[in-house]
Amino acid sequence: MLERLSFHTLNKEIIEPGICAACYGCVSFCTANKLNVLSIEKGMPVYCDEKNCLEDGICYLICPRTPDLEKALKTKYQYEEPIGSYVALRSLRSTNKEITDVCCDGGLVTGLLEFMLDTQRIDGAVLSKKESLWNNEPTIATDFKDLLKCAGSSLAQSQSIMDIEDFTTYTSGFHALKKPNLLDYTKLAVVGTPCQITTIRKMQLLHIIPSHIVNFTIGLFCFENFLMNNDGVKFLTKKLGTDFDQIEKINLKEDFIVRLKDGKVHHIDLEDLGPIIRPTCLACIDFSNYSADISVGGIGSPDGYTTTLVRNQATQRLINLAISQGYLEETTPRDALEKIKKMAERKKNRGQKTLLERKTKNTNHRAH
Ligand SMILES: Cc1cc2nc3c(=O)[nH]c(=O)nc-3n(C[C@H](O)[C@H](O)[C@H](O)COP(=O)(O)OP(=O)(O)OC[C@H]3O[C@@H](n4cnc5c(N)ncnc54)[C@H](O)[C@@H]3O)c2cc1C
Repeated sequence: MLERLSFHTLNKEIIEPGICAACYGCVSFCTANKLNVLSIEKGMPVYCDEKNCLEDGICYLICPRTPDLEKALKTKYQYEEPIGSYVALRSLRSTNKEITDVCCDGGLVTGLLEFMLDTQRIDGAVLSKKESLWNNEPTIATDFKDLLKCAGSSLAQSQSIMDIEDFTTYTSGFHALKKPNLLDYTKLAVVGTPCQITTIRKMQLLHIIPSHIVNFTIGLFCFENFLMNNDGVKFLTKKLGTDFDQIEKINLKEDFIVRLKDGKVHHIDLEDLGPIIRPTCLACIDFSNYSADISVGGIGSPDGYTTTLVRNQATQRLINLAISQGYLEETTPRDALEKIKKMAERKKNRGQKTLLERKTKNTNHRAH
């Protein structure tokens, strides 16, 4: 007999084998949300009131790790592995010094959103904002001041080891999309990691509210996110041979780049960061954020520029317009295509291996 899709199925196929991306799409967009069916416990989605589950399978279908809508997504966004389809590969940066002083790479993300807000192409953007040191919260930015507070990366903080308790670089924008005043918005941009953008795209395929108001998606390249606690800090400081509070900025390109206050720069291979990698990221196969309108990272551009895979003609026109109106400027990428392909292959191979290992382990565990 065919099993009805529900959170039970998600639990059995995704959460129990340890491959849940912990994006919280299932919890945020559960149809029976008001009935308090799902919640998050110890960082993982759980049933809190199973008897109210409507068993409509929405949580399962929109999960970035379930297979059912993959084919439809691939058809709609024309993925071609390893990096998906694109119409241009560009190195861009904002021309606004207020942005380039605080951004992560070239401030393309903040600069393009500034242009889109100024020209009323969007009325808000779902971003990650530093609420306090080591604490990022999803937010909807509606003006330039908001955008500036979100620019840059939460990895670029340094502070005494005493201040760190279970810090994660991951921010689920979905909490912002659950805001009660969401109906105030009609055109939102969303910036997110591959698991978040995939969930949004699956929701759009199924016409699930509020994905209809998302009219632009900026996908971050993402090899992995990090979990930092005191042990993680000790691991990193040992690797760097320096105190944690000597770190000035951490950035991610083809490796993990740490700039110290004394000017020294360390490069660490992203697969050499074992204890601080968010375990679920090891089971992800998408580096380049296949289904976004643009995908961005630092890899393959000169310092101070953002590498941008422009995935459709409408976005190409948008960027050209932002350049012609003085919001963005451009230089030539540096071996970007080869570098992105290499990272994408590495991530795909690691993800497929982890998926197989975890699923096999879970099946064996069930059999005993
Ligand atoms: C965890 C993580 C891993 C990454 N891994 C790589 C990598 O391996 N290789 C690589 O080349 N690039 C990677 N990137 C992308 C890169 O670090 C920059 O974010 C990207 O180049 C954009 O730079 P920018 O200067 O244009 O962005 P900025 O103008 O500084 O803006 C960045 C924007 O992204 C928003 N943001 C960040 N995280 C989230 C989130 N989770 N949800 C919503 N909004 C968010 C910020 O709030 C900000 O608005 C990663 C980014 C993150 C956050």
